[in-house]
Amino acid sequence: MISLVPKETYQRIADISLNYLINDKGIKGLIFDFDGTLWFHRELSSETLDFIKIAKKQGLKISIVSNNIYLNNNAIDDLNISIIKKFAFKPLRKPFLDMAKRMKLKPDKIAVIGNNRISDILGANRAGMYSIYIQDLNGFFFRKSTRNKLKEIGIKKVD
Ligand SMILES: [Mg+2]
Repeated sequence: MISLVPKETYQRIADISLNYLINDKGIKGLIFDFDGTLWFHRELSSETLDFIKIAKKQGLKISIVSNNIYLNNNAIDDLNISIIKKFAFKPLRKPFLDMAKRMKLKPDKIAVIGNNRISDILGANRAGMYSIYIQDLNGFFFRKSTRNKLKEIGIKKVD
């Protein structure tokens, strides 16, 4: 089934409950999207940095899977995340499943956090991962353009 529906939706990364993910959902790793998720409005917020630090302290493995070729290196250094896949071709399953292998985790132990319903949420759901949507209220919710993009890649029915 093709699903663009995330398991959870938040306005900011800092709103995500790590305790719930770890203790209730058994999550052991996080895969982040970069643009519009970690790197938001051309900056890395201090609350995002704090979230990553706390997540690491709680034992979560953390990686980035981005469709972009270029990621801001200063931001990557500040985040101190070493497992990175650029130019990933999300929403294909492969970049997510390859990353699960690199993280040495089963897909169902990983939460994907991203701001795009197609590349991140559809991709995570197809890969059997726990999908968390970061919704930029200045952006869009589910515009016509999203459905049009889906048609372009041959997907007609979505739930
Ligand atoms: Mg993004």
